[in-house]
Amino acid sequence: MSYLPIKQLLQSTTTGHEVTVKGWVRTKRESKNAIFIALNDGSTINNIQAVAEPGQFSEDLIKLVTTGACVAITGQLVESLGSGQSVEVKAANIHIYGPADPEKYPLQPKRHSLEFLREIAHLRPRTNTFSAILRIRHALAFAVNKYFNDNGFFYLHTPIITASDAEGAGEMFRVTTLDLDNLPRTEEGKINFSEDFFGREANLTVSGQLEGELGALALGKIYTFGPTFRAENSNTTRHLAEFWMIEPEMAFYELEDNMNLAEDFVKYVIRYALENCADDLAFLENRLKEEEKTKKKEEQSDMSLLEKLRFVVDNDFQRLTYTEAIDILVNSKPAKKGQFQFEVKWGIDLQSEHERYLVEKHFKKPVILTNYPREIKAFYMKQDEESSASPGPTVRAMDVLFPGIGEIIGGSQREDDLDKLMARIHEIGIEPEGLWWYLETRKFGSAPHAGFGLGFERLVLFVTGMGNIRDVIPFPRTPKSAEF
Ligand code: ATP
Ligand code: MG
Ligand code: MG
Ligand code: MG
Repeated sequence: MSYLPIKQLLQSTTTGHEVTVKGWVRTKRESKNAIFIALNDGSTINNIQAVAEPGQFSEDLIKLVTTGACVAITGQLVESLGSGQSVEVKAANIHIYGPADPEKYPLQPKRHSLEFLREIAHLRPRTNTFSAILRIRHALAFAVNKYFNDNGFFYLHTPIITASDAEGAGEMFRVTTLDLDNLPRTEEGKINFSEDFFGREANLTVSGQLEGELGALALGKIYTFGPTFRAENSNTTRHLAEFWMIEPEMAFYELEDNMNLAEDFVKYVIRYALENCADDLAFLENRLKEEEKTKKKEEQSDMSLLEKLRFVVDNDFQRLTYTEAIDILVNSKPAKKGQFQFEVKWGIDLQSEHERYLVEKHFKKPVILTNYPREIKAFYMKQDEESSASPGPTVRAMDVLFPGIGEIIGGSQREDDLDKLMARIHEIGIEPEGLWWYLETRKFGSAPHAGFGLGFERLVLFVTGMGNIRDVIPFPRTPKSAEF
């Protein structure tokens, strides 16, 4: 029998007809006059209530209707007298698809800790919190594709297996086809890993950017949105070993155009979530409010989740150079300890504590930092003309920093001058042979172009108000978790 998702049923304006609802039991409450079953099918944060009379069904059947059991209930859709819902189902038939032994089912009708839920990642999508996060994640992913499609970008699928290390940070996972019992050796007897992918070197991609640039220099505006991998053994709340990255790349864009695009894009996808995920956001906002109450007064946030999202959408991001930011940081006293854990001076790679200070304490809004020192950025960024305003050479880089998170986007205008690019490659000691295909785009018909990378999970973190990146991806991959 066909059935309507609960989301649609709850919006019914007519009643009196027979419906079938299917889903997982959230709660069952038995009173003297009625049995109330709250059912959820994942289509919405809201449950539908089914009502049965005591004695209407066999005791054995009702015993199987427990939290977590999967059931189908058929009956008349009627107006609900109870508060919280406008319609309910008057149960005429109950079918049990799959019972869930209440002694063993790990999820109970109460709020579980996020740590506990991480241990049962296979079942946590059945909770309100995680189903809300996953629906918001879906809406954001959809908005990403919609924004780019509506603005003339082509979705370019860049490779997952690649020989290049775009970031040069040495955080790659090797891909191997080698027979591990019979490894090739160099003359000195060392294992020859450079032959590991059918005789060549290969890694899982850390970024689709270099390939994305080829796309931009042919199609004009492209984006890629796919999984990326970083073998960083860091157990932070903002890093995963496998995460999804959104990377637009545009021909004829300079740094300023790149910033404008990043700001417009981020605001669009957040606005999309505000407009299309109202129920789920309201649920998460309430959850956060309760959590806030358990914190010390001075650590409580002065804005609710929805206020924070609306603030970002409605206000201009603060734009300044790295050099200006260093000046601010050098002259500031972070409230807690009076100084930063990592010393601030021109040339350092900013740490999350510095980024968050600028965003949360100094400007109190998202920040776009530009023109970083050349030495701390990747080889492909366009070199700035030397300027007396900064103590050393800089590149046309931009990082977008968000409250509660720090860096959410990293981007730049790319070096389009072959001689300057080659000089930088030699300076850093990268072997140009592996990049011959990339260099040819500068040799033949080079053009100014720019792009950026937004870590999708950092965006989902911000929109859902969650505090740990492991809680915004269905199957987190970290040094400590990759069970299935
Ligand atoms: P961070 O400084 O936070 O380590 P990064 O500068 O190494 O980030 P980039 O190479 O600039 O990161 O990648 C672009 C974007 O990808 C970042 O701005 C961030 O949103 C996201 N990102 C980077 N590393 C991770 C990771 N390990 N897990 C999740 N997202 C990440
Ligand atoms: Mg990093
Ligand atoms: Mg960084
Ligand atoms: Mg970065």
